[in-house]
Amino acid sequence: MANSDDFPRLPSVDRVLARLAPATMVPQSRRAHIVASVRDQLATLRDRIRQGNPPTDAECHPDAVARAAMARASTRLEGSLRPVVNLTGIVLHTNLGRAPLAPVWLDEARDRVAGYCNLEFDIDARRRGSRNDHAADLLRRVVPQAEAALVVNNCAAAVLLTLTALARGREVVVSRGELVEIGGGFRVPEVMAASGARLVEVGTTNRTRLADFEAAIGPDTALLFKAHRSNFRMTGFVQDVDIGQMATLAHRHALPAVFDLGSGLVSPQGIAAAEGEPGPRDILAAGADLVCISGDKLLGGPQAGIILGREAWVEPLRTHPLMRALRVDKLTLAVLEAVLRRHLSGDLDRIPALAALRLSPQGVRRRCVALVRRLRQAGLPEGLHLDIVPTRAETGGGTLPATPLPSYGVAIRLDGVPEDVVDARLRAGGPPVVGRVQDGAVVLDLRTLLPGQQGVVARAILELAGNPGFHPAPASGIDTDDPR
Ligand SMILES: *Cc1c(COP(=O)(O)O)cnc(C)c1O
Repeated sequence: MANSDDFPRLPSVDRVLARLAPATMVPQSRRAHIVASVRDQLATLRDRIRQGNPPTDAECHPDAVARAAMARASTRLEGSLRPVVNLTGIVLHTNLGRAPLAPVWLDEARDRVAGYCNLEFDIDARRRGSRNDHAADLLRRVVPQAEAALVVNNCAAAVLLTLTALARGREVVVSRGELVEIGGGFRVPEVMAASGARLVEVGTTNRTRLADFEAAIGPDTALLFKAHRSNFRMTGFVQDVDIGQMATLAHRHALPAVFDLGSGLVSPQGIAAAEGEPGPRDILAAGADLVCISGDKLLGGPQAGIILGREAWVEPLRTHPLMRALRVDKLTLAVLEAVLRRHLSGDLDRIPALAALRLSPQGVRRRCVALVRRLRQAGLPEGLHLDIVPTRAETGGGTLPATPLPSYGVAIRLDGVPEDVVDARLRAGGPPVVGRVQDGAVVLDLRTLLPGQQGVVARAILELAGNPGFHPAPASGIDTDDPR
């Protein structure tokens, strides 16, 4: 039974919010979210009163309600995915979603696949079609050396499918120098084992010769395999078998040569850091039969794995039962088609990951100057210090590890506040801003700033020193870029 005397013990929404606001400086954009959580928590307490299970005085204290509401806010039914402003300078940041997508690609995807679509329907013939036909034409035009293209969930799936379909129960010959771990648990020997193929290691860690491969080929050999050492380089007394030699040898034995490339550089123009990085065109032109790449590395698109190469070797993959488990959905295909259209038209600065990689250090520096100028115009609070500093950005995603990506950032120091607290405050904002903590400051590398984010970052910095009334000045600098 409800005891109406219990209701007045509950604090008002405003009293709870008053407890929250000074401590965490709730930004405007997260306020509605938090207010809703406070209301929910108060509703739960009222329900308990009605059900005759009244909360204790301690549970009714505004601080306790505030704490419970914050816990709720992070687990609300709206789900947990949220935008993050990536100012780490790591362009393909796997933990932050790898390649950023241009909003217009999602508009295009919505127009094509939000409702029903021809995912597996041949409109002209009025019969069942194949989902594998989508994106395949565009891929063949972007990589003309490929007779066939097949899209799966990611590059790990592409390798797994290839090895399972072509080598299960048989032998795959690989150089010891390429039994690598790519990161996120992708280890070449383990994927090999999962596929049921038998690994035949040849050569040594630092040197493998063509003769080593030749000697290992026998009646059980299914294919010759090469893995890109994506995330490290070997120098010194090293020798490799290049994919061209490997393919020639494979073909003499009527075997395919398969290259697990990952990175997927199809538009190298203007990316200084990609100097010397092989792309799928080079690999296929050198004679490889199949090459596996990621959709969300240097292709700059959605998560996907793409297998390119000879129709005769792609066909058994397409029809293998595992393909059913690894296939992608209409949303992935639609976004992949959108990014491929940009590669075809050469609109590379409309591919956000490529735009970030193509930007010169001076271009990044100009972004820093524009941001700092905007902040000074808004009036820098006492004790907040900003400096433009050179930084070392990274391509990330386990690609181009050896090539530096010189960049610039805005170093933030706040008198009397340690840098890790400044960092925590930036991450507590809406949206969270993630930079790097180094040399007693938080450094925001603007190479990875996306179009339209300058105002958000400006506000986050000014709110650090308690200036919640700040309204950013009209857009300037890169904000005037077309956000698409
Ligand atoms: C990144 C990478 C993979 C894994 O790609 P995902 O798309 O993340 O599954 C596999 N092989 C190589 C060589 C890679 O660089």
